[in-house]
Amino acid sequence: MARNTEAVCRKCRREGVKLSLKGSRCGTDKCAFTRRSNAPGMHGARKGKLTDYGIHLREKQKVKNFYGVLEKQFRKYFTMAERAKGNTGKVLMGLLERRLDNIVYRLGFGASRSQSRQWVAHGHIQVNGRRVDIPSYLVRQGDIISVRNRPTSKKAIKQVIDDGIHEVPDFLLRDEGETPKGTVMRLPTAEDVLLDVNSALIVELCSK
Ligand code: SF4
Repeated sequence: MARNTEAVCRKCRREGVKLSLKGSRCGTDKCAFTRRSNAPGMHGARKGKLTDYGIHLREKQKVKNFYGVLEKQFRKYFTMAERAKGNTGKVLMGLLERRLDNIVYRLGFGASRSQSRQWVAHGHIQVNGRRVDIPSYLVRQGDIISVRNRPTSKKAIKQVIDDGIHEVPDFLLRDEGETPKGTVMRLPTAEDVLLDVNSALIVELCSK
């Protein structure tokens, strides 16, 4: 499976924004972006003004890096958003927010989206009582996302919940019982996204 292997902190520095890709470390003074916010590379410190295309491209790359999706997959989401009713940019952000790895992260079961993606891919997560190991699975309203009832799964995820890295958004309801689970109360919208994004720029770029 193809994946982006670039050092994650470089992505924050390139996009000029904290993407919170490293879990608990992102909130500490060890954060590379807090210590050095200029773009990575030899000429990063004296980066010039971006072209119009560059501004559009950076917005798209920022979203891709935030959710950990590659170009091919991102294009699929864009096509789905174009075909759906409503504002394409907002629909696109809502679709990305519905990914199972993101939902696991927003429920606080994973310290970062990449760890949440691992929980899913390694079979620790169930949707409506059935194991789902596809991180890109799109949740629906009413879905119940639970941790598999195995000691290894529960131990690993309970540890992250106890660390309490972030708050659960209002479109999800978390139950921290013996086997942690969460319910999708409503579908997330662009307003629920934790990143400041100008989705209109992405639509302009991808529509060309
Ligand atoms: Fe980004 Fe987190 Fe690394 Fe800071 S620690 S640069 S927020 S990934």
